[in-house]
Amino acid sequence: MKATSARALALSALVLLAACNQPGSGGAVKVDGETIAAGTDGDWLSYGRTYDEQRFSPLDQINDANAKDLGLVWYADLDSARGQEATPLAIDGILYTTTAWSMVKAYDGTTGKPLWAYDPKVARETVVKACCDAVNRGLAAWGDTLFVATLDARLVALDRKTGKVLWETRVAPADSNVTITGAPRVVKGKVIIGSGGAEYDVRGFVAAFDVETGKEAWRFFTVPGDPSKPFENEAMAMAAKTWSGNYWRLGGGGTVWDSITYDPKTGLLYFGTGNGEPWNIAERDPDAGDNLFAASIVAVDPETGKYVWHFQETPQDRWDFDSDAQIMLADLKIGGKDRRVVMHAPKNGFFYVLDAKTGEYLSGKAFTAMNWASGLDAKGRPIVNPEAHYEKTGKLFVGLPGAGGAHSWQAMSFSPKTGLVYIPVNLAGFPYAATGKDWKPEPMGMNNAQDGSKVATPADAAIRKGLMASVSGELLAWDPVKQKAAWRAPYVGPWNGGTLATAGNIVVQGSADGFVQVYNATDGKKLWSFAAQTGVIAPAMTYRAKGEQYVAVMAGWGGVWALAPGLLSRKSGATQNISRLLVFKLGGTAKLPAPPRSADLVLDPPPNFGTPQQLAIGEGRYQRYCGTCHGDAAIAGGLTPDLRHSTALGDPAVWQAIVHDGGLAANGMVGWAKVMKPAEIDSIRAYVVSRANQDKLIGPAPLAPVPPKQ
Ligand code: CA
Repeated sequence: MKATSARALALSALVLLAACNQPGSGGAVKVDGETIAAGTDGDWLSYGRTYDEQRFSPLDQINDANAKDLGLVWYADLDSARGQEATPLAIDGILYTTTAWSMVKAYDGTTGKPLWAYDPKVARETVVKACCDAVNRGLAAWGDTLFVATLDARLVALDRKTGKVLWETRVAPADSNVTITGAPRVVKGKVIIGSGGAEYDVRGFVAAFDVETGKEAWRFFTVPGDPSKPFENEAMAMAAKTWSGNYWRLGGGGTVWDSITYDPKTGLLYFGTGNGEPWNIAERDPDAGDNLFAASIVAVDPETGKYVWHFQETPQDRWDFDSDAQIMLADLKIGGKDRRVVMHAPKNGFFYVLDAKTGEYLSGKAFTAMNWASGLDAKGRPIVNPEAHYEKTGKLFVGLPGAGGAHSWQAMSFSPKTGLVYIPVNLAGFPYAATGKDWKPEPMGMNNAQDGSKVATPADAAIRKGLMASVSGELLAWDPVKQKAAWRAPYVGPWNGGTLATAGNIVVQGSADGFVQVYNATDGKKLWSFAAQTGVIAPAMTYRAKGEQYVAVMAGWGGVWALAPGLLSRKSGATQNISRLLVFKLGGTAKLPAPPRSADLVLDPPPNFGTPQQLAIGEGRYQRYCGTCHGDAAIAGGLTPDLRHSTALGDPAVWQAIVHDGGLAANGMVGWAKVMKPAEIDSIRAYVVSRANQDKLIGPAPLAPVPPKQ
């Protein structure tokens, strides 16, 4: 009797406890290794929702039968006007997100009421060493603490209730080229983060910091350092055998700028690494070795950072084929056998399935059109087409996929119900052209050893039309067991948002042309769409608060595709930045205010000036130093000022004050006195004036964005 009632009491206490743990019921969700591994159904506790990075929610209140009834329920205007790439976290009905410039915001998930905000005050000049915009992809949570990594390479712990700073530590020195855009993860009480910067001068790493103190626990470099000094570990000694020459002079690259994944089942921490530095392998490694561990997946022990295995996806990379796209874990039945696998769809266009414990290559297949390789050999090594070795042929190689990647950081999702992976695919080539033998590393700007002046968009209407027709994008539903497409949904351009899959048999994706849409997860039928007024590049997420399911997504055009590709940026569609957090539910009736009108492109440039020699110098300097942010051939992609409109074009003194002296440095436009003389800077003015006059004659680019706020 006594035992039974004790058990009944214990049982009812358990039931009560379970009720308290229901998200959105006023109870407190415990954020720890167990809840992040298993997931709580109504929350979103980690970047990819759970450690496996599947971005699959068990919520099914919103489903394929009722998605047509979705509507906006609230939105929040954001105080930054650069690309918004973050996935918000949802804990106990509260949304936490990061924005451009590494700022953090908290909102009531049901009403949108702002609860607190944190600004790490990143110096805007930092953006000049960030290839791909002042973006940030999100937070990590552990206990009552949130963690954000900043563009200027700090790691900050915040009190989740108040946004107050608990500690702050440097991940890399302030004067290094290290920038951070990725979301940290927390594994066994350690915050794990890597960095970007392999387009500049950075030695890639992933590092772990104590959650309580911020003290560094370990650091694993991804590429070997100076061989005249002792290697840090055996893995580096092994990697160094695959490099030659003075490979370490530019750091070597291999940066871990996005994917970090932990598997409680194998006990391993996986991360993806970026390109070797510079891209052009002739300038990096004269013997063209495999260059470990660039463009690879590496597995280490999360407690110590000790190397366990690696799989290199792009040996001898010279195309910027970062392997940084998210690493996803799943249990799949392959050849009748249950396997714990890593699934990966990196920039190089192949979909890989590896054994999660050993890294053994199980299968791989091209998931998109490509011309750089004809396939994979039995061990999963790409069979490279000789013309892709542009540094050997000395010829221009328009590679497909290009440096933007067939798939990049825009996260894919996996539905265990359909067995499909939903991949945002870019179809966009890139013109690779090697610099000549006299190339020297630059003290400022990108160091890719690519000759940008050979590939500027021609001012010819027919060629431009062909270029514009050559790029597009799609949502691809991929069967990872059969290595085969199940369905595809087309977009007008590349650089669409990450995806969310749910138990309601839906896939949610924002798109660069300015919509948020819901698809049937089984057959790809479009069920609903919403006009977002701006390109949506971030992944959507979902949560439950007060018993109702919500879908949230960060909207705001930006990232690399809004900067460097020039005219091609416009192909994607809604190329003006209106930065907002958008939240939807069934029956939502909120409305967005009318969008600001895009200005018609009326070019009224000053008359041409300068000798042919000055124009050639100006084009070369523009493509080397300016085009990274202001667009190929001076056609901006909607995020940064379009220089063809600049009033400074007609005033040489104002032009020098900005470009030479750094008069707009507080906005991120640094001065270039360190690398260019005033005469060179005026040659750039001559080039931009000539480009504005050319475009006046052949007709405007399709869309002129409103000037950015910041
Ligand atoms: Ca890269």
